Amino acid sequence: MGCAEIISLDEMRASQQWQRLRQDLHESFDKWLDGLQEQLPQLDTTLAQVSEHIWQRRQELTGGLMETIVSHAHADERHRQQAACPRCDRRLSAGESASRTVATMVGAVQLERPYFYCRTCRLGHYPLDDKLGLSKGRFQLDVQQVAAELAIELPYEEASKCFGRLSGISLSSERLHTLTHQAAEGLRVLDVAPFREEMDRLVAQVAAGRFRRPVMVLGIDGAYVPSRPESARGTRPGQGRKRARGVRWKHEWREAKGCRFYLLDGDRIVHVLSWHRVQSQAELGDALKAVKDAGLIPEDTVRLCVVCDGADWIWEHVEVLFPNACQVLDYYHCSEYLHRMAKVQYENPLQGHEWVEKTLTRLYLGQVGRVLGGLKRLKPTSEEAKKAIDNCWIYLHGHRKRTQYQSCRRGGYPLGSGGMESANKFICHTRLKRSGAWWYETNSNQMLALRCAKYNGTFDQVFRRYQNRLSEAVRNASCSQLEISSACGRCLFVAVGG
Ligand SMILES: [Zn+2]
Repeated sequence: MGCAEIISLDEMRASQQWQRLRQDLHESFDKWLDGLQEQLPQLDTTLAQVSEHIWQRRQELTGGLMETIVSHAHADERHRQQAACPRCDRRLSAGESASRTVATMVGAVQLERPYFYCRTCRLGHYPLDDKLGLSKGRFQLDVQQVAAELAIELPYEEASKCFGRLSGISLSSERLHTLTHQAAEGLRVLDVAPFREEMDRLVAQVAAGRFRRPVMVLGIDGAYVPSRPESARGTRPGQGRKRARGVRWKHEWREAKGCRFYLLDGDRIVHVLSWHRVQSQAELGDALKAVKDAGLIPEDTVRLCVVCDGADWIWEHVEVLFPNACQVLDYYHCSEYLHRMAKVQYENPLQGHEWVEKTLTRLYLGQVGRVLGGLKRLKPTSEEAKKAIDNCWIYLHGHRKRTQYQSCRRGGYPLGSGGMESANKFICHTRLKRSGAWWYETNSNQMLALRCAKYNGTFDQVFRRYQNRLSEAVRNASCSQLEISSACGRCLFVAVGG
């Protein structure tokens, strides 16, 4: 009986609280209406005009609602007298109150809250900011994430305009650049890779109703990234335009080496994992090893196949990391190679063409031995042709077990590395190859990491990691570490808050 009364008392309290909040929300809405009334257009206005009008003021409306809810939920924080130091747990007395405005996707919120400073730890904090999980700076993580999602698709200036138009939040292209790259700092392959559970889900989806295990393809390749050297960096920030006019540096094309795992589902490709980066051959090998060691590749439920061009370093990694995978020399690279040789050997293009067709047919039928023998017997027509024939022999001999195109086809394996070429395009080229864009290595790699995360379906995961990293940094930092020469002369905690 008593229990029932307590519940009803709680319910009553909750209902009273809600009634009060509701009243305040109405007030906030009324205030917004007052503003609207002042600027309301003529009554005979078009729908587009009304829409535009409300669109312009929507952030005020939703921001106001949010501010009301937050101030209700944390009403006691405004007058908080004491708090424990997050480091040493000492009881601290409230210092001066400070006001801070933060921007979220639904509008701005102004917060009024007291500051607590621990002299022993030299650490200051705002308990309300911790409770609300605020990130430093004006723009909260929801804004940062949406803005970054746009910035990895469009050049910063365009993204900034588009973001302002769509969200009603003004974010300069410089700020957008900074926020995007901060979120991508230090991302490694495992940070942007999907979890094993997700891999298993994709495999199960493709395997459903099939007799054979699905084919998972690994492609490895390089894509050129327009780059500028580190020496092009000026000492002063914000001098980009000036610098670009009087460039003293020379642009260069650097290779972003990447890998892509994907599943074959009939004629369709199901993307699994991509990792692209301006990096050395060894670094790409390390990334592949990290993926393998983390147990991300379900080697027991798929038939793994590697399709690549003839670069030796690629196959060296494959032999070590995935020795049981079916290896395929990309058919089109192989064909290109043969055409180049034939061009040197045969003066008559038709004859050369015939030779290539015959050779490819033999390879297709698994007769690489006969092709190699034929090359040995071929009479070179010139010194240059002799060299080309020798090279061709070395090339095909080196890849002899990778040219069994017919049996590959029967096994349902791909002959071409189109899936990898396409990843080069949608991950690297579409964003990095823009007219006039030359990227610093760090920036291009951070952009690539975010674009990989997008296609790997781990963009949210990356931002959760970023949020955790930020709160950890705040927990571990002491005032002395964060001291900055801001106008207020106090530590960062105050600088970002006040
Ligand atoms: Zn302390």
